Amino acid sequence: MQVTNLKSIADVDVAGKRVLVRADLNVPVADGKVSDATRLERILDGLKDLSQRGARVVVISHFGRPKGAPNPEMSLAPVAAKLGELLGKPVTFVPACIGDEAESAVAALQPGAIAVLENLRFHAGEEKNDEAFVAALARSGDLYVNDAFSAAHRAHASTEGLARVLPAYAGPLMIEEINALRAVLENPQRPVAALVGGAKVSSKIPILKHLIGKVDKLIIGGGMANTFLMSHGVDVGRSLAEPDLLETAREIMAAAKAHNCAVVLPEDVVIAREFKSGVANAVVPILAVPSDAMILDVGPRSIEHNCAVLKECRTLLWNGPMGAFEISPFGEGTFGLAREAARLTREGKLVTVAGGGDTVAALNAAGATPDFTYVSTAGGAFLEWLEGRELPGVAALVRAQA
Ligand code: AMP
Repeated sequence: MQVTNLKSIADVDVAGKRVLVRADLNVPVADGKVSDATRLERILDGLKDLSQRGARVVVISHFGRPKGAPNPEMSLAPVAAKLGELLGKPVTFVPACIGDEAESAVAALQPGAIAVLENLRFHAGEEKNDEAFVAALARSGDLYVNDAFSAAHRAHASTEGLARVLPAYAGPLMIEEINALRAVLENPQRPVAALVGGAKVSSKIPILKHLIGKVDKLIIGGGMANTFLMSHGVDVGRSLAEPDLLETAREIMAAAKAHNCAVVLPEDVVIAREFKSGVANAVVPILAVPSDAMILDVGPRSIEHNCAVLKECRTLLWNGPMGAFEISPFGEGTFGLAREAARLTREGKLVTVAGGGDTVAALNAAGATPDFTYVSTAGGAFLEWLEGRELPGVAALVRAQA
């Protein structure tokens, strides 16, 4: 897929036009209030720009999983209110996304005004990418902008279908996310390290296989490192591991060797008998894990070694924590490395790109996010890109420009 020059909405005359912007408003909401507005903050500049250029901005998004039927608990109304607060200007919430109510509310928008339509997933046609639903949505727009990279791994009406029926453009956040990933995977400053952690090998096999051909060093941490250690005959006690994947782990190691990609595994670990906060723990070399203990983090020698690897590299791609970072004191392996990556980035020595659910939470907990070159707000889409898969939402934009 050639994504080098996606058509950007920045170069289009939008004055007076109804611009349907697919954003990702799927933010955490508790007690009717947005509890983490990071995703909204990332789309503000794009919306402000359209508004200032006189567009009539119509924002569409999914929210939660209402499974094709209206559900007041999954209304976008509170999110629209928060968006207005962040934009510092009124945002009209329209309690429908298709039909007369939606179309007449959109028709009433003045140039520069911004509206949010109700949750797309109140209609089964959204996830089915149903032609009639696409057509109904398209009646509220002259142009379509996809600014939701984080939803681009889904071929839904709002992420794929609309690009077939309206003039389609990439929004600034979409372009930023793709550029960050391309900077790491396509033409990076070398050497490149990938740090892949998290719970299980099984969920990351395609990522590991894809990265091996792209990066120079692969640092493996978290629960998934246990399976790799086991495949070398290491006794990991009662640690989280996937014994049925020992052969896969060996294949990945062999493929890495064939590609000249150095695999870095923990040399010491933090162990405990229970998976709970404040529990008695100890640091042991990897060959001395007691049979009744669990590995819950990498140890200080591993942190030091991993930091030394980072110092040799110019680019780092990070997905997944190095240990059970949510439970004290098993976050140090993740936080120590995050702080070092942040320091090297601040000093201009390392380009750091990170993403995928828990990774962002871990980097936030380490206070490293502001220093990283780019932290993606996408979860599943970020992971699928790392697997080397074509994302339907991006492919649709590429097709639209052909
Ligand atoms: P993932 O969603 O695959 O990236 O996995 C993230 C989860 O892996 C986090 O909740 C961590 O607590 C967990 N994790 C990381 N290392 C370990 C470990 N050594 N043992 C158990 N869980 C771990």
